[in-house]
Amino acid sequence: MTSEFSLISQYFQRPTQHTDVGVGDDGALLTVSEGCQLVVSADMSVVNTHFFPDAKPYDIGWKSMAVNVSDMAAMGATPKWATLAIALPEVNADWLAGFSEGLFACADAFHVDLIGGDTTRGSLNIGIQIMGEVPTGQALTRAGAQEGDDVWVSGELGKAAMGLVVLQGDLLLEAPERTACLQALHHPEPRVDLGIALRDIATSCIDISDGLVADLTHIAKASNVGAEIQSDALPLLVKESAQYALSGGEDYELCFTAPANAREQINALAKTLNIPLSKIGHIIAGDSVKVLGSTFETMPLQQTGYDHFA
Ligand code: ADP
Ligand code: MG
Repeated sequence: MTSEFSLISQYFQRPTQHTDVGVGDDGALLTVSEGCQLVVSADMSVVNTHFFPDAKPYDIGWKSMAVNVSDMAAMGATPKWATLAIALPEVNADWLAGFSEGLFACADAFHVDLIGGDTTRGSLNIGIQIMGEVPTGQALTRAGAQEGDDVWVSGELGKAAMGLVVLQGDLLLEAPERTACLQALHHPEPRVDLGIALRDIATSCIDISDGLVADLTHIAKASNVGAEIQSDALPLLVKESAQYALSGGEDYELCFTAPANAREQINALAKTLNIPLSKIGHIIAGDSVKVLGSTFETMPLQQTGYDHFA
């Protein structure tokens, strides 16, 4: 029999890098760096809603941490601490070993300390809260996009959504594309370095979790502007990805706005960070996101993005 406490120490207690008191006490103690604001966010991953019951435990561990790290990236924050509230149907040592390996692989990659949490019995449910730091006043938010700004995105869009459809058996792809899409779905790479570099450049930023149009609409609403994007300019793996890029979720790339005079700086940043950065449109007056381009001019935009309660 594994007790709750040996389970925690075996799978969830690791040395920390920047924590005063971590796992093992009633609360964690941490010191926020001088001159910084604390940035806090939480994201839950639920079996059958966010992943299939038979998904690899390593992938579930990586992704449930990665989606949280991505929110720090979107804020221009340095991720530092996380808590894990997990409900497990049973104590399955192999599952827990794989899950904790994936979780800590992501935490280590982004220097995140796991500082506490809660463990209970229940259907598989993973709630992570993440905390990070940003120099006071420098956080990127959804508000701040200005008429005339360019709209940019990182990476290639639509791959994760295509990976999901591949898994569901509704899309056949050649081997390299199939691998790329499944990798994007299972192993998103949060754009932390990009978010930090954009603190001085971007006027607004969001991570793409619900689909480009839905997430850019969040920027438009928060900034009181509209946006126009050019479907031909979308960075895609294959031409057929356009619809997935616009309305599919889970890319965890960054979408940001910046003034036109920052173009050279952003192109240089793409080279330094070795991340594709594509200018896909611009901010206009108004309150909606329009998609221009031969194929998608008439796309029904209300059908965009994933909404758990719609
Ligand atoms: P308490 O009864 O005081 O709430 P718990 O028995 O729930 O404490 O947890 C003991 C310690 O283990 C606490 O420091 C808690 O933060 C930590 N902890 C519990 N579950 C997890 C988990 N899944 N991951 C990381 N730390 C955990
Ligand atoms: Mg207690």
